[in-house]
Amino acid sequence: MAKQLVVGNWKLHGSIGQVKSVLGEIAQAKLQANVGVCVPYPYVMLARQILHNTHVQCGAQDVSQYHIGAYTGEVSSGMLADIGCEMVIVGHSERRRLFGETTEQAGVKMRAALDAGLFGIYCVGESAEQRREGRAEEVVAAQLQVLQNLPVGLYAVAYEPSWAVGSGMVASSEQISPMHALIKNQLDERVKVLYGGSVKSNNAESILAVQHVDGVLVGGAALSAFEFVEICKAAR
Ligand code: 13P
Repeated sequence: MAKQLVVGNWKLHGSIGQVKSVLGEIAQAKLQANVGVCVPYPYVMLARQILHNTHVQCGAQDVSQYHIGAYTGEVSSGMLADIGCEMVIVGHSERRRLFGETTEQAGVKMRAALDAGLFGIYCVGESAEQRREGRAEEVVAAQLQVLQNLPVGLYAVAYEPSWAVGSGMVASSEQISPMHALIKNQLDERVKVLYGGSVKSNNAESILAVQHVDGVLVGGAALSAFEFVEICKAAR
């Protein structure tokens, strides 16, 4: 099987100093794994400069559904590609929950990203309430519908149950494995499916060993070079 993928999502964290120190250390680690780091927009170019000569890819955490025009505050996929950005996270649960982003919008963003040559990381996942109600599979299946017919290999899906994000509560292998199987089943067996939600250096190895897990999407632990490098070393 192709290599597992480890992607860091810095969310709304960082400064020039932090980008230089954390990514500088990551650059020196000479990682062999398939790795990406998604920093806030203003730091993507700096990240690209620091990580050139490494295998580590640079990414953003969102992108506009529009290509050009009177859309104040938006950043297009073409602009991201223009500055050397290689990947983008789309439809993160925080964007859906806090900013009202819909599945339809996320689908348009994915198409825009892929059109510009960016690798898309499309996030899906249920809330605690939806899982309690036994609706987790139904919710994820609906979120996946907008990916139909996208070219396999140009994107990955990240299964991030929102109750596991930033909570310290990791989904169990009994919860992760069947959901990843469902995602592959609905899209294509070859689509890489990452797990996200409280991944740390001390649990990465066991999560990455779960059947159908092709990598991890890391939030908080991606802000520490030591933590992130250890997680990358656990990737097979
Ligand atoms: P944490 O790793 O901080 O739980 O965040 C996960 C996440 O949202 C990554 O996109």
